[in-house]
Amino acid sequence: MKFSQFIILLLCFLFVQNDIDAQRNRKFFDGPYITINDDSKDILWIQKSKVKKESITSDTIEFFNVPNLPKVDLYNLDFDIDTTLSYSDVNHFAAISDIHGQHDLFIDLLIAQGIIDSLQNWSYGDGHLVIVGDIFDRGDKVTESLWFLFDLEKQAKKTGGKVHVLLGNHEVMVLHGDIGYINPKYRYTSGASRTPYPDLFTDKTLLGQWLRSKNITVTINDFVFVHGGFSKKVIDKENSLNQINKVFKDKILPERAILYDTTEFISNLYFENGPLWYRGYAHPEGFDSEQAEYILGKLDKESIIVGHTSMPQVMSLFDNRVVLVDSSIKFGKSGEILIFEDDILYRGLLNGDRLLLDSDNKNGKRSIFDYLFEVVDSNTILTLKTDVKHLKKTKTEKEYQPSEVTLSDDLDEPLVFETRVKVRGNMRKKLCTLPPLKIDFNKADLRNHGFSNKDKVKLVLQCMDFKSQVISVKKEHLVYELYRQIDTLGLRSKLINVNLITEKNDKEVYQGFILEDEENLARRVGGKVIEKGIVRPEAMHREAYLKMVFFQYMICNTDWSVSGRHNIETILLDDGIRLFAVAYDFDYAGIVGQEYAVPSDIFPIMDVDQRYFRLKDLTKDELKAMRKFYNDERDNLNNIIQGAVYLSEKERNRFNSVVDDFYKIINSKRKSKVLLGDD
Ligand code: ZN
Repeated sequence: MKFSQFIILLLCFLFVQNDIDAQRNRKFFDGPYITINDDSKDILWIQKSKVKKESITSDTIEFFNVPNLPKVDLYNLDFDIDTTLSYSDVNHFAAISDIHGQHDLFIDLLIAQGIIDSLQNWSYGDGHLVIVGDIFDRGDKVTESLWFLFDLEKQAKKTGGKVHVLLGNHEVMVLHGDIGYINPKYRYTSGASRTPYPDLFTDKTLLGQWLRSKNITVTINDFVFVHGGFSKKVIDKENSLNQINKVFKDKILPERAILYDTTEFISNLYFENGPLWYRGYAHPEGFDSEQAEYILGKLDKESIIVGHTSMPQVMSLFDNRVVLVDSSIKFGKSGEILIFEDDILYRGLLNGDRLLLDSDNKNGKRSIFDYLFEVVDSNTILTLKTDVKHLKKTKTEKEYQPSEVTLSDDLDEPLVFETRVKVRGNMRKKLCTLPPLKIDFNKADLRNHGFSNKDKVKLVLQCMDFKSQVISVKKEHLVYELYRQIDTLGLRSKLINVNLITEKNDKEVYQGFILEDEENLARRVGGKVIEKGIVRPEAMHREAYLKMVFFQYMICNTDWSVSGRHNIETILLDDGIRLFAVAYDFDYAGIVGQEYAVPSDIFPIMDVDQRYFRLKDLTKDELKAMRKFYNDERDNLNNIIQGAVYLSEKERNRFNSVVDDFYKIINSKRKSKVLLGDD
């Protein structure tokens, strides 16, 4: 190992260590957890990571009111037990599921769709809100959602509305003592208070009693709601929802665990074919409209609404006979809520818009890239299984070969896709162990998982198996982030951990980033890619072109050509007049510092760290305009660089100094002459 590599490694280590310390020093807030005794109540909470306890009798204090924790009206801890499973003549309802501790996003959606007001009070009148299970696990704001709903159902009742909290498999898991998916914060609560997490929800606790009063299913008008779904296996044995719900509450919930050797009916209800675990509807290979009709016929209903299987958005199957409402809120980034109003179903979006729920799901469907970019979190691992040896051997041929992509994060069912893969890129094809790849997803597979048919994702992996290459690939990603600040047409990229599974089932671990395919970009911005023919720089939208050329100059990159169609995409926007040059593949930029990068010998520079301005006809006015534009963006660029905490501080500062140097040139009367060609 070179000394410089050692230093980088050391810095990485220090940086990771800092991160862990920051986590450790985070001040936790959690609770309150209330245990009900005969003549008193014990309140437990965590305040700035300290355990607090207080025992109260009914007339001591009215409110539990601690900053950063849910305010609880201690005089009003009674709740109604939902005995009715069937509601009719409901004019409007909303349904949402799988909140999984993402309380803030949950609240944002409810506010955006007018279910609650900005003070988080019920504003949905006589409407119904159905939580289709899985409030627990993954995220760190579970307790907040529980208290919020505890209170909201009382508010709703006052205006003739109704909140239905249905149990999901994660509620039952926690009540049964399975804490495999809880957030570290709750491990802290449990450890600090010396209380096993499930014991915070026993039938002696208020929230435990409240949860145990909840049902697993409800019907509103002609809709059935249940977390997973009713399988044929269950429904053939028993089609009375009252009966199924009763067995669940009387026989399954009170147990600490259910074993396969209990009665066949109970084990059918509990395990993978049971109403809280079943995923049959969301896997179209094994499920069709006939089966949907059969099950709905048995239940005498028109439509079934389920959560449990994460989708890119709220989805309709078989002409709204099945509606999947788990819109991947669990990642904490985006989500939707199903809205029913005046006999019409809508997808309620975070920005307040409503889109008609169409059975073709054409309206605003996400592409697989958009899902990876906008929805999944950084724990997601992309596993690519293919004949890696063949891929490496034939890397200069650009032929597709069969592959399989799995998206997983250890906490949920992985998504598996049939794909093809080929190598792309220019020099990296020759230099890298694994050059950039293009993955082509099977369209039918995409459809089945609820994605649009835009099927290509580019993947850039660290070039070689050295630690320094991990840093280089992260830096290249950072260049894309900066470029998007300068040019709204910039391709989007996102760091991702990649596992390659070889033909021998060996696993190779890579750092990489996914990169938007130009077709995805074109759709997003309303334009088309011009793939063939000669394009000249003169045909480009001048201002955008200047920004691009200056950007390349800023990052010390000469490795591009418009007429040579080298590392430039050409996009024609919908008006058919404006042509835009979009830069990509920045591995030869001096700012990235790739070891193999050398400038082309047609330019008078020896090293990629040196700058060379590629434009020959810049006017003084244009220089002035660009100076202003780039000076206005300077803080934004700085913030992006300093926010790139996946790089060490030293690397970020190095990055910044290259950018600073660019600013010195454009802001100096003397130095900027080089840009005007009269140096
Ligand atoms: Zn679930």
